[in-house]
Amino acid sequence: VFDVLIVGAGHGGAACAIALRQVGFAGTIGLVGDEPELPYERPPLSKEYLSGEKPWERLLIRPASFWTERAITLLPGRRAVSVDSDARTVSAESGETFGYRKLVWATGGSPRRLTCDGHDAVGVHAIRTRADVDRLIGELPGVTKAVVIGGGYIGLEAAAVLRKLDKAVTLVEAQSRVLARVAGEDLSRFIEAEHRAQGVDLRVGTGVESIVEEDGRATGVRMADGELLTCELVIIGVGIEPVVAPLLAAGAEAAGGGVVVDAHCRTTLVDVYAIGDGAARPSRWAGGATLRIESVQNATDQATCVAKLIAGASEAPYDAVPWFWSNQYDLKLQTVGLSVGYDATVLRGDPATRSFSVVYLHEGRVVALDCINATRDYVGGRALVVNGATPDRSVLADPAVALKTL
Ligand code: FAD
Repeated sequence: VFDVLIVGAGHGGAACAIALRQVGFAGTIGLVGDEPELPYERPPLSKEYLSGEKPWERLLIRPASFWTERAITLLPGRRAVSVDSDARTVSAESGETFGYRKLVWATGGSPRRLTCDGHDAVGVHAIRTRADVDRLIGELPGVTKAVVIGGGYIGLEAAAVLRKLDKAVTLVEAQSRVLARVAGEDLSRFIEAEHRAQGVDLRVGTGVESIVEEDGRATGVRMADGELLTCELVIIGVGIEPVVAPLLAAGAEAAGGGVVVDAHCRTTLVDVYAIGDGAARPSRWAGGATLRIESVQNATDQATCVAKLIAGASEAPYDAVPWFWSNQYDLKLQTVGLSVGYDATVLRGDPATRSFSVVYLHEGRVVALDCINATRDYVGGRALVVNGATPDRSVLADPAVALKTL
């Protein structure tokens, strides 16, 4: 029996174990994960790890010695399949059962799969784990043409890396613009133009009919209009499904595809917390709407909140302002706040200079910023979001006025 059992050894799980020790928690900690590796950073998987610029060792969240020194018991290679919240146990596919006093569920999500013909052909890849990317990298030498399905961050980042590696890339997005779920139109159009300028054949507003295969290997993508895009590699980046089935089967309440948690990341099961990509909660940064946020910041800040609560170090609810980043080519995108439910945008700077920001407003209040190669706006804008500032729009639109002065 562990005093704290954490299921999922990714960003949230690792951060929770680290934070528990940081605040002086002396009980036993078990960290169960289904991957074989030590906890590692996921963002480089579609960026510098895929491109070969960052070696595996630099992705580790902490070296092996750290976990031993802190007496955190790593239990890799175990997939948790069920939770018994009365007996306070978690069972793994391996047949092992782990007891807990407090359970922290931090399993993230698994890539959403396509259901069309050919979706499981050899040469069709998702990007979520190291194993996914190692498989993909192993195939790259034989690839001249790739099709990326999905114009979210991961698809766009993968397309950028493949172009750097001199592969021909077609990116297909079913919605009318890329990043439609997470950004406003100005940003989408800018990103689309950048990818086209880098040689990506970008198709928006068009669906995929099937993946064509020969002898079990993908050889192309058939579009809804009948066109065949030939390729040797297909990358699917169409979002994730939170891994919460064991918790829901144990009786936890569900929402937004994930598991419901309160302001302290507590699920509706006694002494069971959930953090990260799979945890849905009302966010004041989204006008109180219940949502899941898929970012490193969200997972690690929720982890710290839960660790402090369990260790008795703080009762403060989770309330951190969301932020996120993405790198594509030489573009550094930084986002703060949530651009949901905005009613106006202000463009700050000229996209043609490749350094500008989009400010999102709701009833005059700054709710979010997307900053492209504009770290000063990101830093200054953060305070505007946190304070719900209502600056004059013409001042906001003037890049000569530093946001931190508003
Ligand atoms: P994860 O970090 O995914 O950890 C969950 C762990 O639990 C995984 O190891 C998983 O294998 C394991 N697991 C799943 N099911 C089970 C089970 N049943 N039993 C045991 N273990 C299980 N965010 C940013 O902020 N910026 C970025 O630039 C960015 N880039 C990204 C690029 C890629 C390619 C990906 C995949 C994600 C990126 N993200 C980025 C998102 C970010 O990585 C996630 O939001 C974050 O990892 C969520 O943390 P988590 O702890 O919820 O899940």
